[in-house]
Amino acid sequence: MFCEVIVDILNSQVDKIFDYILPEELKLKVGQRVLVPFANRKIEGYILKIKEASELDSSKLKSVICSLDDFSYLNDETINLMEFLIKTYNLRYADCLRLFVPNVIRKNVKEKFIKLVSLNPEIENLSLKFNEKQKEIIDFLKITNVIGLSELNDKFSQSSIKTLINKNALKVFEQKENRKPYNIKLENKQITLTSQQQNAIKIIKENTPNKFLLFGVTASGKTEVYIQVIKDVLNQGKTAILLVPEIGLTPQLFKRFSSVFGDNIAILHSGLSQGEKLDEWLKIKRGKSRVVIGARSAIFAPLENIGVIILDEEHDTSYYSETNPRYYAKEVAEFRAKFNKANLILGSATPSIETYYNAKNKDYILIEMKQRALAQKLPEVFIVDMLSEIRRGNASMFSKLLQMKLIECINRKEQALIFLNRRGFSSFIRCLDCGYIPKCEDCDVSLVYHKEDEKLKCHYCGNRYKVINKCPVCASNNIKLGAIGTEQVVEKLKEILPNIPVFRMDNDTTTNKNSHIKIIEDFNNTKPAILVGTQMIAKGHNFNNVSLVGIIDADLSLHYSDFRATDRAFNLLTQVSGRAGRTNLEGEVVLQTYTPKHFAYNCVSTYDYEKFYAKEINLRKVTSFPPFSKIVRVLASSEEELAVREFITEFYKKVLELKTENYTDFIYLDVMKSPVKRAKKQYRYQILMRLNLNTSEKTIEKLFEISRELNNKLVQCFVEIDPQNLS
Ligand code: ADP
Ligand code: ZN
Ligand code: ZN
Repeated sequence: MFCEVIVDILNSQVDKIFDYILPEELKLKVGQRVLVPFANRKIEGYILKIKEASELDSSKLKSVICSLDDFSYLNDETINLMEFLIKTYNLRYADCLRLFVPNVIRKNVKEKFIKLVSLNPEIENLSLKFNEKQKEIIDFLKITNVIGLSELNDKFSQSSIKTLINKNALKVFEQKENRKPYNIKLENKQITLTSQQQNAIKIIKENTPNKFLLFGVTASGKTEVYIQVIKDVLNQGKTAILLVPEIGLTPQLFKRFSSVFGDNIAILHSGLSQGEKLDEWLKIKRGKSRVVIGARSAIFAPLENIGVIILDEEHDTSYYSETNPRYYAKEVAEFRAKFNKANLILGSATPSIETYYNAKNKDYILIEMKQRALAQKLPEVFIVDMLSEIRRGNASMFSKLLQMKLIECINRKEQALIFLNRRGFSSFIRCLDCGYIPKCEDCDVSLVYHKEDEKLKCHYCGNRYKVINKCPVCASNNIKLGAIGTEQVVEKLKEILPNIPVFRMDNDTTTNKNSHIKIIEDFNNTKPAILVGTQMIAKGHNFNNVSLVGIIDADLSLHYSDFRATDRAFNLLTQVSGRAGRTNLEGEVVLQTYTPKHFAYNCVSTYDYEKFYAKEINLRKVTSFPPFSKIVRVLASSEEELAVREFITEFYKKVLELKTENYTDFIYLDVMKSPVKRAKKQYRYQILMRLNLNTSEKTIEKLFEISRELNNKLVQCFVEIDPQNLS
């Protein structure tokens, strides 16, 4: 027998596949990791195919040496999924393996060991004398028992610790890095499902297997529906996947799921160490955990016999992988659900326009939950016009109303969230006198300010405009970049509300492992308190004591330069508003804006998704944007500008040929520098197109073909289908 082995899945730009002889006695299967001779070395590879004969001279072939695990990384489903990924996203075999094989195995990551310290239990018998500093350390350890050496060194004098160790008063030992991802107290809630929840579960049961959109307002109790559905699936001997947005991975959700499913849960997300990830992965692989909760990549969890796949907050963009390997977790979920004849449930209070469109067109069964679980009112939203604040002499980032409500909230010993989305803060300009923001003449998107060549540009059609110094509407010269960050908000809060604990959660404060969970836990345990944050605080969290949400600058997300900007702003603002008044307290929201009349805010404050959807879908239709077309971007990058320019010119030429042959496929086609012209030393060029839905499949195959054909070492190229980020 012979086999095809793929090697070097990490580094190479192309799949490296070689034939080897497969010794019968090894009893190997497709997908097993093996050791093979290569040049004068032994290297790792994965068996892609087993075959009777090789087209090559078999006397020159070498033999597989041995297998490296007692299992295979591929099965019938993953082999099919691999074909799907290759066809849909133009991935290579190596990319697919990266998705199926845990990092720690691929990269040979060394396990981390940490040094721990404890008291010598015989310490009293050692008849030693200690000075004050040393006594302090000993007293500390009497209470703490065990602590990491580095942590102890942070707390006390290093030389004293050293002396104690040398005197044998302290014992140092090594241990594998902590392998228990979450150490939180479980809470056991007895819950009687509401009639809405019962109804949702009934619809799912009666239509199994199928695809569902669970459209439930914030705090309608979607989690309990998921739990019930997963229970049913486990009772049938099947398995379940629950995907949540990365930062929505909240301690509350884990508590709830752990209290119901105990050790049956495996958790996969980027906050875990490599060792922990491997532990979780093996638990799943060996059938010990039958429920997987995780972020995007958990969709590739090695579960068999799946009964349900759930995507919570389905509108969230974190479900798209925008770096290689590129994929969209929702589409992978659709594939796996279909293959396993499992249910697929998308949950959201603000479904993406595309998903709701699919539900309206009966591709998904629509289940609605319009009331909050505890029959609380949805929070009242106050829209504040920040221009009139300025006119009335309040130049602070907090409106008078927000300041007042903050003080009231604090006096009631409750909690407040202050939300400021920093994304794109410098990516648009506006008139401070009338709120005017320049937009493209051909597309309904805000223009992006490019400092380098002092131009305003449209990221959609490539149109360029002169930078304005004077507002074309009110002739004011008061034109500024929008730019305040969360850090500044915290500073200002401390000025106006001294002595009130303020927590901050954003990319900068959550770089350490589990730090976002710690912030949330600490905040939950402090009353009164304020939590300031970016979109990280908006998603999924179930706060019990938050009664006020302040949105500092709602316009930041609205005027992001993207046709999905309004949709995302509506989602985000509805989600963040939904964090208020989730249990016993009544909630209020203060939404600060320079464009208070904006349609999206009207829909946010009245919780009118339908109205928002109707307008948005109509706009997409008349402008032929998704879901009425496919956006395709060919993104090429290289450290050498000339190389990438030649590449993209060649590619564009071929696309133009393709367009002549398939004229009706193309709604729009152009080539340009990418908005971010240079990133990580790479010059970036792109071809943008919008394709008709019905004819695009073979055209897309052709585009993939061109990219493979033109592939060269100097230039990196991706053909992105419906990319979420066009920067
Ligand atoms: P969603 O995910 O829809 O935003 P959650 O599932 O987080 O909402 O539920 C919001 C709150 O309501 C949580 O505190 C949850 O414990 C509570 N809850 C949900 N269903 C019930 C129920 N049937 N009875 C009592 N409390 C419930
Ligand atoms: Zn103006
Ligand atoms: Zn444009």
